[in-house]
Amino acid sequence: MNVSRLGLLLLVLLLPIRGVAEQGDLSRQADGGPKGPGEGHAEAAEDEWDYSRERGPARWAALDPSYVLARVGGSQSPIDIVPSEVIGADLPELVLDYSPQPLHVINNGHTIEVISTATATMRFGDRVYKLRQFHFHAPSEHTIDGRPAEVEIHFVHADGEGHLAVVAVLFEEGEAESPEIGSLLKTDALTEPGDELVDEDRLFDFQRFLPDSLDYYTYEGSLTTPPATEGVRWFVLRETMHLSREQIEIIDRVYYSNNRPTQPRNLRFVLTRR
Ligand SMILES: [Zn+2]
Repeated sequence: MNVSRLGLLLLVLLLPIRGVAEQGDLSRQADGGPKGPGEGHAEAAEDEWDYSRERGPARWAALDPSYVLARVGGSQSPIDIVPSEVIGADLPELVLDYSPQPLHVINNGHTIEVISTATATMRFGDRVYKLRQFHFHAPSEHTIDGRPAEVEIHFVHADGEGHLAVVAVLFEEGEAESPEIGSLLKTDALTEPGDELVDEDRLFDFQRFLPDSLDYYTYEGSLTTPPATEGVRWFVLRETMHLSREQIEIIDRVYYSNNRPTQPRNLRFVLTRR
């Protein structure tokens, strides 16, 4: 066995341990401050990954050994959801309770992230998660029958043990349903990584970014950004929402193409509530 083989073997043996360690890091981060778990987004200044050809999704695993799951992981996100292959199951309702809270938005170098500083919860059966932040991808990361939406918002939640659950909402162009989005993404205030917008005096209603129906597709996946940690429970809402062309352009102007391509589904099933 040559040295590189041995290295590969060690890497494979260490993988499960690494995964747990990252999850632990995430939960500590999640409990530790306003940054939240960041769905894997670390501080922008230290990051070397992005969505370019040189440091983009196809190269993430080569940039840092801790990003290796981006290449070798078997249950990565996002995925293409094929409604005709989705399996109906006896699953609990998804219950989201987001009360209005002060505005706190940052440009973290990869996306615009809205940080949750007040109590906002997600309940799934007997599991309770807290909302940490939500952020934008354009075009969408998940696709339906191979078709991307214009925008996808990820609401990132963590439970007390650091398990992550992400609710994804897809947006198409149409009559605007969330007028606040324009003022939320004041692009002149958020164009540079590190830019921050805090308005303690104005309450912002996160609920306005959710469709009437919380029917979902669910599957077991990963963070869609390095370190691509697995064990993330995804809920992609079935009802698509609408943004005006102007709102979509506001989002596109700051970060366009911050979407990881869909990943192989492998042996995973996508379930929906029967
Ligand atoms: Zn995301």
